[in-house]
This record gives sequence, structure tokens and C-alpha cells, in this order.
Amino acid sequence: MEYDVIVLGGGPAGATAAMFLAQAGKNVCLIDKAKFPRDKTCGDAQGRKAANVMKKIGIYEEYEKLPGQKIYGITLSSPNGTQIEIDVEDRANPAPGYVHKRIVFDEFLFKNASKMVKVVKNMHVKDVIVENGYVKGVVGTNEKGQEEEVRAKLLLAADGGTSIVAAKFKLNDNPPEHFISAIRAYYTGVTGMTDRIEIHMVDELIPGYFWIFPLPNGEANVGLGMIVKDMAEKKINLKDAMIRALEVNPLFKDRFKNSELVGQIKGWNLPIASHHRKCYGNGFMLLGDAASLIDPLSGEGVGTAMISGEVSAKISMEALAKGDFSEKFLEKYDKELWDVIGDEIKTNYKIQQLGKDHPEWIDKLMVKASKDEKFRKLFESMLPYTGGRKKLGKMDFIRMFI
Ligand SMILES: Cc1cc2nc3c(=O)[nH]c(=O)nc-3n(C[C@H](O)[C@H](O)[C@H](O)COP(=O)(O)OP(=O)(O)OC[C@H]3O[C@@H](n4cnc5c(N)ncnc54)[C@H](O)[C@@H]3O)c2cc1C
Repeated sequence: MEYDVIVLGGGPAGATAAMFLAQAGKNVCLIDKAKFPRDKTCGDAQGRKAANVMKKIGIYEEYEKLPGQKIYGITLSSPNGTQIEIDVEDRANPAPGYVHKRIVFDEFLFKNASKMVKVVKNMHVKDVIVENGYVKGVVGTNEKGQEEEVRAKLLLAADGGTSIVAAKFKLNDNPPEHFISAIRAYYTGVTGMTDRIEIHMVDELIPGYFWIFPLPNGEANVGLGMIVKDMAEKKINLKDAMIRALEVNPLFKDRFKNSELVGQIKGWNLPIASHHRKCYGNGFMLLGDAASLIDPLSGEGVGTAMISGEVSAKISMEALAKGDFSEKFLEKYDKELWDVIGDEIKTNYKIQQLGKDHPEWIDKLMVKASKDEKFRKLFESMLPYTGGRKKLGKMDFIRMFI
């Protein structure tokens, strides 16, 4: 049988696309190689972008009840140890951000999508079927170990940072300055936890950072990430850098003195949106990490992945209505997606570059923010888990540096 759409990958991007398409009455097959619930290496934080998409689908109220930590602010520190705390003024529900373990959050999205569409679990897709220059489906190994083909008019590839679809069409060519490498660990027994997320700019990692995100029951998601090119140039081993920071850095050493690592430290690469990757072709669109949509400053990728799910579903419906699955028509997806996410990505890339070229300014910025209430508010409005999506004007940049 031929589906309207195959959604490959049941993470935030794919599950979102599947739900929007199902609500529009489309015949969808959602394929994932994993058996859910499954973990995904992540900081586990979700901000307003993700919340807004869930509200449109109608699952936000249920999401708020998942076991997780509400976030009402952010703690930031600079290399010289200056620390500022920004709290949102309105502490009423809904919280501006949440930290939910991805094993919980992705299961929630996948379960909701599973109620609406045909799901094929445990199918490892190995290749894309191309006929007359158009993608017509996928082929892979199903849970019985047999080769299986699934066909559709359109393929939405939400198969993550190692997307086989992006690789097949040579669209996964981010240079090392447009990849972040990051590690994540869970700890218990960390003292001084609040309902703020913490971002710490540690000298050797700049413009990368070290994070501590609170979870329920005294757990913390702890990690760090930096640009792959800088990591290679500075010969940084992320695990060693993290353990060094926890043992030696005056901001953390007391707080982690009696902490315990839960499970293993895991690493993964993040394709970042400072590289605007072509995300469509004849018969297919790329979503989420497969399209390199992670914010180059914050590392936030869940929100943009879900937005790509929403926009690609809209364009899929238009393509199905017209019967036009050509690259020329699907270019519309790239345009509409970047109309939504482009300004914030560009601003954040500028800030990332400024931090890289002038690390000394980060200390200055933080000292200024520690004294200047108005300036602190500007920060708050920009950050994904407190405000987010503010487009900075020229004056905002000037105010930052004078
Ligand atoms: C260490 C780290 C920390 C991060 N912290 C944050 C954070 O705090 N907040 C945030 O917003 N973002 C964060 N990110 C980014 C975020 O994790 C990703 O941007 C997000 O998961 C992208 O969602 P996705 O749906 O595109 O892909 P994924 O979540 O990777 O989902 C892809 C799905 O496709 C399936 N799949 C892959 N290949 C195949 C195949 N061949 N056949 C069948 N199925 C396949 C996988 O099983 C998976 O379920 C972080 C990333 C890392 C690495």
C-alpha cells in the first residue's frame, strides 16, 4: 500500500509532524528503529517554542503533568566567576520552561502520535527508494529481522543528527565550525539546586558552556558542549574538562563534593543552524536535527525540531492537495521554516561569534548585567527557557557593549 506520508523518526520533530498530519486526516506511517520509551542524550530542557507547538496540537495540559521540573529563571556565570541570577517576574503557570528527561518527554510525544497514525517500531531504515528522481519510500530491517519496504507520496525525514536521508542526498555536510560536541550525565546529591537552569561559561570551553539543569527528586542533568572545530584546535577532551570543572572550579567543587554520578556520561554531536542546510528535494523534506536546526548559542534543538514538524506537515498537505512533490514546490518548506526560526538563529550566531572572538567581553557583560537591572531584563527576553525569540536590534547590541 502507498501512504500519503512516511515520517521517519519518532523524536520531537517526527512525532510532531505525524500528529499534525493525522489531525488533518492524512494517511501516515511513522517509523522508528527504537523501542520506546528510549533515552536520547540531551540537556532535557524544553522552552516556549516546544510549548507553543504542543498547545496547537492540544497536548500541552497533559505535558505539564509529566514528572519534570518547572523552570522560572536562569543562573549565568562568566569565566572570572561573576554570577547573575535572572528570575521571570510572572511565576504563574504555565512555567516558561521545563526540564523533563527525554525518556519521559519523547515517550509522551510518541505515545500521542501512536494513537493517531500507523506506527512501525523497531524498523531500522537502511536506504531510501528513489524512482525517476523522486523519493518513493524507504527500505529497512523490521523487528523480525526481515527486509521491508514502505512506500508513500512523501517522506519526512526526522531521523536525527545521523540522518540516512540527509547522508543519501549529501545534505549533511556541516563543516566542524557548525557542529557542537556535547556530553551529558545525571547526578544526585548536588547542592544549591533551584528552579533556575544554570549556564556557566568556563574559560577553556568558550563559546561553549557547562550546564546544570535541575530535575525532580534531587537529580541534576549536567553537561557541557563546545564547537567541534575549537575542541580539536584546543585539544579538549570533554569528559576530562567536565570532571576537572566539578573538582576544581570554585563555583562547583563544594556543590559536587557529595554528589554521585548516575549511569554513564554520554556524548553526541549537534548539527547547528549557523549552517543553513538545504532541507528538501524531490519527494522529501528534512526535519529537526536531520536539517541541522539546533540553536548555535543555546544548543536548544527540541523547539526548532517541533516547529519543523509543524511547518513540514503544513507543506505536505499543500503538496498532497496539488499532487506536486517536486523539489521546486518543496522549497517553500525551507522558506517558511526559516521565516519562523531565522531571526533568532542569526542573532544567536552573532552572539556566539562575539563570545568566541572576544571572550573578555563575556566577563564585562556579566559584570554589567550584575549591576544593571534593565540589561538583565534584555538577557531574560532572549533566553530560550525564560523568554526567547526576541529579535535584537542594533541598539540592543550597542547597549550590551558600552
Ligand atoms: C548533549 C546534548 C544536550 C542537548 N540539550 C538540549 C536541551 O536541553 N534542550 C533542547 O531543546 N535541545 C537539546 N539538545 C538538542 C536536542 O537533543 C535535539 O535537537 C533533538 O533531539 C532533535 O530532535 P529530532 O526529532 O530532530 O531528532 P531525535 O530526537 O534524534 O530523534 C530521531 C529519531 O529517529 C530515529 N532514527 C534515527 N535513525 C533511524 C533509522 N535509520 N531508522 C529508523 N529510525 C531512526 C531515532 O531512533 C530517534 O527516535 C541537546 C543535544 C545534545 C546532544
